[in-house]
Amino acid sequence: MAELTPKERMAIERHPMPEQRPEDRVKNFDEVPLGFAQEVAMREAARCLDCKSPQCVEGCPVSIDIPGFLKLIEKGDFKGSVKKIRETNFLPAICGRVCPQDQQCELVCIVGKRGKPVAIGSLERWISDYERENKIREIPEVAAATGKKIAVVGSGPAGMTAAYEIRKRGHDVTVFEAFHRGGGVLVYGIPRFRLPLSVIDEDLNFLEKMGVKFIYNTIVGKSMSLDDLLGSEWGFDAVFVGTGAGLPKMTGVPGENLNGVYSANEYLTRVYLMGAGNFPDNVTPLYQGKKVGIIGAGNTAMDAARTAKRLGADVTLYYRRSEEEAPARTEELHHAKEEFINFKFLSNPVEFIGDDNFFIKQIKCDVMKLGEPDDSGRRKPEATGESFIDDCDTAIMALGCDVNPIIPTSTPEIEVNKWGVVVADPETGATSKKAVFAGGDLITGGSTVINAMGQAKRAAAALHDFVMEQGNAFGYWK
Ligand SMILES: Cc1cc2nc3c(=O)[nH]c(=O)nc-3n(C[C@H](O)[C@H](O)[C@H](O)COP(=O)(O)OP(=O)(O)OC[C@H]3O[C@@H](n4cnc5c(N)ncnc54)[C@H](O)[C@@H]3O)c2cc1C
Ligand code: SF4
Repeated sequence: MAELTPKERMAIERHPMPEQRPEDRVKNFDEVPLGFAQEVAMREAARCLDCKSPQCVEGCPVSIDIPGFLKLIEKGDFKGSVKKIRETNFLPAICGRVCPQDQQCELVCIVGKRGKPVAIGSLERWISDYERENKIREIPEVAAATGKKIAVVGSGPAGMTAAYEIRKRGHDVTVFEAFHRGGGVLVYGIPRFRLPLSVIDEDLNFLEKMGVKFIYNTIVGKSMSLDDLLGSEWGFDAVFVGTGAGLPKMTGVPGENLNGVYSANEYLTRVYLMGAGNFPDNVTPLYQGKKVGIIGAGNTAMDAARTAKRLGADVTLYYRRSEEEAPARTEELHHAKEEFINFKFLSNPVEFIGDDNFFIKQIKCDVMKLGEPDDSGRRKPEATGESFIDDCDTAIMALGCDVNPIIPTSTPEIEVNKWGVVVADPETGATSKKAVFAGGDLITGGSTVINAMGQAKRAAAALHDFVMEQGNAFGYWK
């Protein structure tokens, strides 16, 4: 077939992702997007202009060779395409589903200047699904054993990426995880209808096949300290810490301790990690109301709202600013609206009202208006003096999370900033404690999967240099 001209490529319209209908999907936890057919994926990939200096690659925190993998899809070399992505990204099936491409690679795609950008995320998802469904994934070569023992603390995207990168370099790797299974927020935060468990488990199993060991139900900082891991009993040569930001922020308004008031983290953890809501198969309880109020308008708020909807509730979301300032991704907000979530913007919860048995029964909100921009550049919400009360038997607070303090408080040599975020060198991930590297939400506060992976990759390279006594990281603490 003759090569398409740039004009012909530009003339191809972006292919929309087929999705479950909203009225169907609110009754199940299956994935919302249904995926491209092969010929659609090849045609979508043909929209890429194979730019000489591709902006999309610069927009990607792990610098995937995007035109490289897209052109291989276009040519039908699917095995070559997924191999190309895997040169830089260990978790493409996850990233293709949850990365904010609209704020990264697709935001700067040149095709998007005249029309809609190439659907890079959907194609990353498609090609990694092709690999999984056709069972063509290969275990990468692991370098000869170095004799060095490395501990990884936390099994979220940062810990998984660090384990992969460190193991590939020939070190003996053991991952310590507080919960009974791996995956971090990928499992206990992001809902199944956005990211199926089978996708995460394949990556965890893959690490095991590479020889990575996992020790679950172990809280480092309680069960043992970092010094224990680095001491003679455990004998690790270095540690990578990726314990995330799992400490929920609360509003501090009266009634917050009533029964039926949850943080989004607790609510989502109960549903997705503990299988609550599926009694009697799972024993973890969930007080699942009929009228659920969600406080906040970020991605976590949308996840909590759409989860409560699937569990049968009438859901209303309260946010003190307007829709324009809502921090959620456009796609998440759009999906939530499609799924019949009610939105009350410019509504600031000021009290949760309980019944005689200390169960929440109502939520009181101040009506807000927008004033001058604040430090964040967003217009500041101000009370109008009016308020309203809604019935509500469950409230879920989705106001963001702070860094879990267990590691810093149990190891005072680890420096933290005034928000409790661990201070680490941006290039090497080296912390103030010798032989301890860190990455992910622990060093940034709540961020994204791909940022956590990017930091873990850099830290793994530096950790390797440190234990092998070579490169910039060696001598860092001298
Ligand atoms: C509801 C929700 C939805 C999100 N949606 C998206 C999205 O769509 N796209 C996106 O890019 N990002 C999203 N994020 C953010 C993203 O999930 C995080 O940025 C990312 O998971 C951070 O990875 P991490 O490995 O640093 O931490 P985590 O994923 O939090 O993993 C940390 C792991 O460490 C374990 N741990 C903690 N303390 C200890 C200890 N002391 N000892 C042993 N183990 C410990 C935890 O149990 C956990 O398994 C979302 C976050 C939430 C909460
Ligand atoms: S910027 Fe867009 S068109 Fe250019 S290489 Fe990247 S994906 Fe292709």
